[in-house]
Amino acid sequence: KPFPIFLSSKVIEGFGRGGKQLGIPTANMTEDVVNSVLQSAPNGIYFGLAKTDFEKKVRPMVMSLGWNPYFKNEKLSGEVHIIHNYQNDFYGTQLKVVILGFIRPEADFVDIDTLVAEIQRDINFCLKAVDKEEYKKYFHDKLLSH
Ligand code: ADP
Ligand code: MG
Repeated sequence: KPFPIFLSSKVIEGFGRGGKQLGIPTANMTEDVVNSVLQSAPNGIYFGLAKTDFEKKVRPMVMSLGWNPYFKNEKLSGEVHIIHNYQNDFYGTQLKVVILGFIRPEADFVDIDTLVAEIQRDINFCLKAVDKEEYKKYFHDKLLSH
């Protein structure tokens, strides 16, 4: 099992498609970081924890890794949706992440509503999963807080 996988990336601009308009903004990671994760984990949807550089708190996150078939991306992307309602953007800041598990493979969706519903299920799955005893220690892991 490749987990946990620790990552640290600058938050970059994505294609600006979907995310915020769907109520599910995703902080996009740099290409080098995405390529390095793909060495140990296949394309898909993952859950874990994230920490921004402007907050103390470690928060649950869902991450998509891969081609994003729905939006027909030409490039691989790694995108992190932190399960928290932020008032402001944080492009250019450093984001630390620990990937704790795989949720599902990437899938193409017939329409936006189906996509949003599926992501909502991923979010619920994540919130249940990170509550488990085995993951408690990661909320205090030095690799996230430093
Ligand atoms: P882009 O295509 O540029 O990634 P998005 O619509 O996906 O555009 O919005 C992503 C940006 O929204 C992030 O880079 C970040 O600055 C901001 N943001 C606000 N709230 C969140 C959140 N809960 N999770 C991730 N990013 C968020
Ligand atoms: Mg995004």
